[in-house]
Amino acid sequence: MSMMLRMALRSCHLSPFMRLCRMSTEASKVSSRLSSLGLLRTQGLIGGKWSDAHDRKTLKVENPATGELIADIPFMGRKETTDAISAAYNAFHSWSKLTGSERSKILRKWYDLLISHKEDLGQLITLEQGKPLQEANGEVGYGAAFIEFYAEEAKRIYGDIIPPTSADRRLFVLKQPVGVVGAITPWNFPFAMITRKVGPALACGCTVVVKPSELTPLTALAAAELGLQAGIPPGVLNVVMGNAPEIGDTLLASSQVRKITFTGSTAVGKKLMAGAASTVKKVSLELGGNAPVIVFDDAELDVAVKGAIAAKFRNSGQTCVCANRILVQEGIYDQFANAFAKGVEQLQVGNGFAEGVAQGPLINQAAVEKVESHIHDALSKGANVIVGGKRHSLGLTFYEPTVIGNVNTEMKISREEVFGPVAPLFRFRTEQEAIEIANNTNAGLAAYLYTTNISRLWRVSEALEYGIVSANEGLFSTEVAPFGGFKESGLGREGSKYGVDEYLEMKYLCLGNLKSA
Ligand code: NAP
Repeated sequence: MSMMLRMALRSCHLSPFMRLCRMSTEASKVSSRLSSLGLLRTQGLIGGKWSDAHDRKTLKVENPATGELIADIPFMGRKETTDAISAAYNAFHSWSKLTGSERSKILRKWYDLLISHKEDLGQLITLEQGKPLQEANGEVGYGAAFIEFYAEEAKRIYGDIIPPTSADRRLFVLKQPVGVVGAITPWNFPFAMITRKVGPALACGCTVVVKPSELTPLTALAAAELGLQAGIPPGVLNVVMGNAPEIGDTLLASSQVRKITFTGSTAVGKKLMAGAASTVKKVSLELGGNAPVIVFDDAELDVAVKGAIAAKFRNSGQTCVCANRILVQEGIYDQFANAFAKGVEQLQVGNGFAEGVAQGPLINQAAVEKVESHIHDALSKGANVIVGGKRHSLGLTFYEPTVIGNVNTEMKISREEVFGPVAPLFRFRTEQEAIEIANNTNAGLAAYLYTTNISRLWRVSEALEYGIVSANEGLFSTEVAPFGGFKESGLGREGSKYGVDEYLEMKYLCLGNLKSA
């Protein structure tokens, strides 16, 4: 898009819907459809009201596949976040007093609405984030499942009765909602990273201020709109976006916010953890990974190739559980490398709306530069390109699905998340060596292994210092299982029955001096 057109678009400050400016036919069809459904929200949500920034400042949301402007949204900061916290604090009293069953009904209705708009939300994800439509629809199904699961769990937040130590006492454990929750989420899953937090928070009786990434706020706003339609009362779910450090600092400084839940980079997670200390908030963190995929000589080749491609190239390699290091035992290395390279060559790159596309663009130029710097470092230390290895001819932020061989542990790519479509292949000799390489990182989110030997499967699974181990399977995420990491990959778990613990306080209640008849 030309500079002149950009400037013209920037000045189109009319009504919120009029802010949706000109774009390609495909994208504009999607936008007008979403807009007619009331799902293209371009304001924050505070206390049940759609709101602009107090000073009317805006920021731009662009389609990474075309560079086109999708919408202007409010650039919010301290003032709006303070208002959102107050709204959430005021709503907490009544929301937390509803019965689990009452909250469950509202969450269930929200789930039904999310599913009935699955394709609309999927299109919105593709539009602002770039992933292929089929993957985006998959994210909606996956993300909505957390709302359904926690609608069910809302009725099962049990306490405990403890056998007393004296006859005139009764001892109980009550589980109570922690209070107002600040939820900060990344751009790579604009929908599911929100529902994984908001589902359990609301089920427990907490109220929430969500801060989605400035790169992908529109899906969050559409989900919030459907939440309002489902009957989530004003103030229970608020959404602000804009100046991330200012919003984060305001959430951290507020004594009314009792919990911070964050998904994003390890660097920002550490800052939030330190900041939460001043008011001693509960903190849960879903941070970066450095996932190893270990392929043993006895693996089923087809299963390993298919699983490794899925684990590496989903979302253009931009997930926290994407394979970052593919360790292949020497006896199967050449066979695996050939079959894997053939599979990767077939991945079609393009706009996520186009038929057959398996890989969309990267989120921005900084992401492409990171990929380039990892490849440059690896090649300068002896790695070789097997497939791809450069920007895609489509331009913008498209990058070729890439495989590099002869990678070793001295290279940057073995220590840091590449967060892009680059699969580095390492060769190893023994099981022990593979375990040592896999564990030689500060991250500990997900690890994959491929073997047909059951004893090895157990041995290696237990030795891996990871919160998630996926054996003979490249895609494992589900709402019914706990998701989270060891070491610097985070604290706490999302999903499953364990997910509610992050939003509950435990109260010990001692009833003493009970009289016998
Ligand atoms: P990021 O830069 O840390 O951003 C995540 C969120 O934090 C965004 O909403 C961002 O806002 C906000 N933020 C940035 N600086 C902040 C600050 N000083 N205070 C408060 N909030 C701040 O991470 P990302 O690049 O979006 O996401 C990629 C990372 O997320 C990767 O490392 C990936 O592994 C990790 N991730 C982890 C999981 C998991 O479950 N473990 C899942 C998905 C992603 P703006 O975007 O508006 O600047």
